[in-house]
Amino acid sequence: MLSGMSNIEQMEDNLSYMKDFAGLTEEQKSTLEAAQEEMNRIPLIPCTTCNYCAKVCPMDIGISGSFTAMNYLTLYGSKPAALHQENWLVGGHGKKRADQCIKCGACEAACPQHISIREELERVTEALIAEQ
Ligand code: SF4
Ligand code: SF4
Repeated sequence: MLSGMSNIEQMEDNLSYMKDFAGLTEEQKSTLEAAQEEMNRIPLIPCTTCNYCAKVCPMDIGISGSFTAMNYLTLYGSKPAALHQENWLVGGHGKKRADQCIKCGACEAACPQHISIREELERVTEALIAEQ
C-alpha cells in the first residue's frame, strides 16, 4: 500500500542508486533508466508529508492527506481507492477537506517543496469531492 510520497521517492532513489551500481549490464542499466523516465513522467504532487503547511493553516485542512489521495488517483486511476485514502487521512484524522480552503496562502509560504497548494487543493476538490 502506498502510504505517502516517501514510497515514490524511495523507489526513485533506489532506481538511481541501482543505475550506478557497477555490476549491471548495459541492458539492465537502460531498463532502469527507462523505468525512471516513466516515473518522472507521472504528474505527481511532490509532497513529502513534512506537514509544515499543517502548522500554519488556519482552517486545519488535511493538505498532505489530500495530496496523498490525489497521487493515489493519478497513479492507480481508482477514485474509490483514492477516496478511501482521503476519508482516512483527512476526515479520519480530524482534518477538514480540500473544499474548505479559504485560499489565504499561508501554507504556500511554509512549503519547502514550493507546491501551489491552493491550486492543487482545487484539483483535489474537483477530482474527489465536487461530484460525490
Ligand atoms: S490556503 Fe487553504 S490550505 Fe493553505 S493555509 Fe490557507 S486555508 Fe489552509
Ligand atoms: S509543506 Fe508542502 S511538502 Fe510539506 S506536507 Fe505541506 S504540501 Fe506537502
